[in-house]
Amino acid sequence: MKKIIKESNMQVVCRIDDVKSIVKSQKMKQCTVGLVPTMGYLHDGHISLINKSVSDNDFTVLSIFINPTQFGENEDYDEYPRDWERDKRIADESGVDVIFIPSINEMYPQGYKTYVNVSLITEILCGKSRTDHFKGVTTIVNKLFNIVEPDRVYFGQKDAQQAAVIKKMISDLNINVEMITCPIVRENDGLAMSSRNVNLNAEHRKAAVVLSKALFEAERMINAGQTNKQKVIKHIDEMIKKTGKAEIDYVEALDADTLQQIELIKGKVLIALAVKFGKTRLIDNIIVEV
Ligand code: AMP
Repeated sequence: MKKIIKESNMQVVCRIDDVKSIVKSQKMKQCTVGLVPTMGYLHDGHISLINKSVSDNDFTVLSIFINPTQFGENEDYDEYPRDWERDKRIADESGVDVIFIPSINEMYPQGYKTYVNVSLITEILCGKSRTDHFKGVTTIVNKLFNIVEPDRVYFGQKDAQQAAVIKKMISDLNINVEMITCPIVRENDGLAMSSRNVNLNAEHRKAAVVLSKALFEAERMINAGQTNKQKVIKHIDEMIKKTGKAEIDYVEALDADTLQQIELIKGKVLIALAVKFGKTRLIDNIIVEV
């Protein structure tokens, strides 16, 4: 493992050409480059990705961009939390070499027309209610790949479907990057860390613990021999509904690698859910192996 003790010389850049030339000079020195794409308002989940990149690579680029094309019209683009100064401090302390914080116009200049879309696996789970969400994600990630040309890119298992979609895009488009998926980082009470958690009121924050509780209970049921998918989903559903404060978007159990439907809980299974508390939509998941 590479030691992370170093003087701060983190650069903050907003222009595509500047990141390109900084990365190019690192590559000329044969340095490996890791990319951590985020929407900012950094928490320990993001930091775990940064730490992994810093330990794997000579040079780490953190991108912070609240990508408008992945938000639907009635979604929370305006409410999405932002604190660039805090993010810069955290990134610097975590060993990031460059933060790339482009403007919307830098990424989508007037007349922008090109989108990248992965079919089918973007139409299930989150894609059902968030049509075009993944098209926005794959487009921006593809642009970041072209701008940074990283050796490795880091994503969180927290966004399981996003990770599967990007993995498919990398494979289908023969993109020359190694993708590393890092485990979910949780609060002490089990709630998966998310920048959106700050938008929960006290009552909803307390109730939201049910998501991880229900997933862990499902895991216990499965480990005790339950293979009936509907029974597992029903149990999670009922636990969440019992809070009286949640609006369930979906609770699903799918093949963890392909996101295909399954009959029985068998093999490597992703149990994923999306639930709204007030206006805040949270996602969480676990992978079980039977
Ligand atoms: P976001 O800023 O929410 O778009 O997330 C940026 C990256 O951090 C994505 O790859 C997420 O999957 C990852 N991430 C977000 N929350 C967590 C978490 N609690 N644990 C691990 N990774 C996370």
